[in-house]
Amino acid sequence: MRYSSLVSVYLRLESTSKRLEKTHVLASFLKDVPAAELETVILLLQGRLFPMWDSRTLGFSTALAVKAVAVASGETERKVTSLWKKEGDLGKAASLLVGKKKQATLVSKELDAQEVFLALQRFPGMEGKGSVDLKVKSLAALLGHASAEEARFLIRTVLETLRVGIAEGTLRDAICWAYLDPRIRYNMEKNDIEFPDESGREAYNTLVAAVQQAYDRCNDYATVAKAAKSGVAALRKISLTLGVPVRVMLAQKEPSVEAGLDRVGRPAALEYKYDGFRMQVHKKKADVTIFTRRLENVTVQFPEVVHAVKEHLGAETAILDCEAVGFDPKTGKYTPFQHISQRIRRKYDIAKLQAQLPVELNVFDLLYLDGKELLDTEFEKRRELLTKILKKPILKTIKLSTLLQTGSTAEAERFYKESLAAGNEGIMCKSLSGKYQPGGRVGHMVKVKPVLDTMDLVVVAAEWGEGKRSGWLTSFTVACRDETGELFTIGKVGTGLKELEQEGGVTFQQVTELLRPAIIAEQGREVTFDPALVLELAFEEIQRSPAYASGYALRFPRVVNVRDDRSVEDITSLDEVRRAFEHQRGR
Ligand code: AMP
Repeated sequence: MRYSSLVSVYLRLESTSKRLEKTHVLASFLKDVPAAELETVILLLQGRLFPMWDSRTLGFSTALAVKAVAVASGETERKVTSLWKKEGDLGKAASLLVGKKKQATLVSKELDAQEVFLALQRFPGMEGKGSVDLKVKSLAALLGHASAEEARFLIRTVLETLRVGIAEGTLRDAICWAYLDPRIRYNMEKNDIEFPDESGREAYNTLVAAVQQAYDRCNDYATVAKAAKSGVAALRKISLTLGVPVRVMLAQKEPSVEAGLDRVGRPAALEYKYDGFRMQVHKKKADVTIFTRRLENVTVQFPEVVHAVKEHLGAETAILDCEAVGFDPKTGKYTPFQHISQRIRRKYDIAKLQAQLPVELNVFDLLYLDGKELLDTEFEKRRELLTKILKKPILKTIKLSTLLQTGSTAEAERFYKESLAAGNEGIMCKSLSGKYQPGGRVGHMVKVKPVLDTMDLVVVAAEWGEGKRSGWLTSFTVACRDETGELFTIGKVGTGLKELEQEGGVTFQQVTELLRPAIIAEQGREVTFDPALVLELAFEEIQRSPAYASGYALRFPRVVNVRDDRSVEDITSLDEVRRAFEHQRGR
């Protein structure tokens, strides 16, 4: 397929904000994509080179992209940079420069989508001496054959910021329209879908659910689309694969123990909410793989966890959902998340760091056991199976999460206090009949922690500092998200960060370095980012405010932590902000 065909779909997607119209555009296009090209097309449509569960990234910085545009257009890097600043988008700058060049060249071949895909897929494997040049050259070669619009989308794909607005649900529905339910009609005028009859809607909902279930299990729309093309039976065969991470189930928040119990139903399973980080552990005989909640493979970083699972888990194959909690090796006392967060990233001196900052694995869920998938099994049963394969708690190594089953508010309150006194963040309330819903922020598992403590928010903008702080990013605009993923600003934060490393805590320098690769536009001192960096903010109070898109603002916010174990999908939701605001008013 020509790359230009894909680009014309990007353009049509970009030209509308209507979700159903986007679904229609995608479905009409997907119908005619040959099976052999489906994988490439589905990934490129999402602006990806690898499936969602594969943590390889292209690692292509804006500085390298500037170089490639300069090589391809014959302009200086300075010219490219100044046009980028003027346009506020490097893709746009590339289209202006490269497109002009192409018009002047007589012989130029058409770019092929597969060729683009394969060339970009090679980037993560290019390492060591000469690899930077090689990357620049190969991107410049592609740009050399690109039209203006092709150049714009090439750059955006390389920088992993395609942004044509395809939400996951849109792709799911488009796959359904294209391959499973040909009777669906999109009425452009009414911007609605039409079914031949009422039973048509029901049948459609069942099919959409089948696509969603398949995606929940394999985490890759390319696999889902290929199966759907051959029919619903193939789709239903997709199941969990050991070694391929599943998106974790997320919890909603309730402001009190009573509200938590009411929400999930009594009796409920209450558990300590540990202050560590999420680990999804896959065991396939002697093979143990560990993933974070962002689905990054961190097996190498945690040899003690691999060992504990091999030694003490009574199962041949299993997928566990757990919280790894740090403790002080000298005193045995548990330590908060920020003490061990460096273990996630550090890839050298692992044994030394492990000795200083060991973790204990607290297992709280079971998704797969000895060949059987358990996502649709009720929580109570999953926990029972878990108890069988982890009989004895081995403190400071591996154990089940502490659990109390109760319907009594008084007992639950006591358990909550006991958990806080033990240094945990609060408790989790879980419905006994809840299923495991990958990627869902569900109402049958809710967290209860002291209200108005902190929020996890994503940085969307900042300002370059002045005077003492020049060269650093300051004054960060942060946002929460709604259930569709749309972001809503909720305030600006400038305090909490340190100027000097010696002061302890997160520094301006550190945050600046983390944000630099995510810069997408700059205008004077104002900088905007691809929303990726998550900050944990403490604050005094939530106020109503017309100044921010969420309708709320935080009073006296300060940064307490960088949450680089979290992604933009994990941040505080607008709904949680609303509830916290209402709760605060009710006090
Ligand atoms: P939050 O990070 O505030 O959204 O709370 C949800 C997180 O709490 C999960 O993603 C887990 O990492 C963590 N957690 C700690 N203890 C438990 C537990 N017993 N059950 C489920 N999640 C837990």
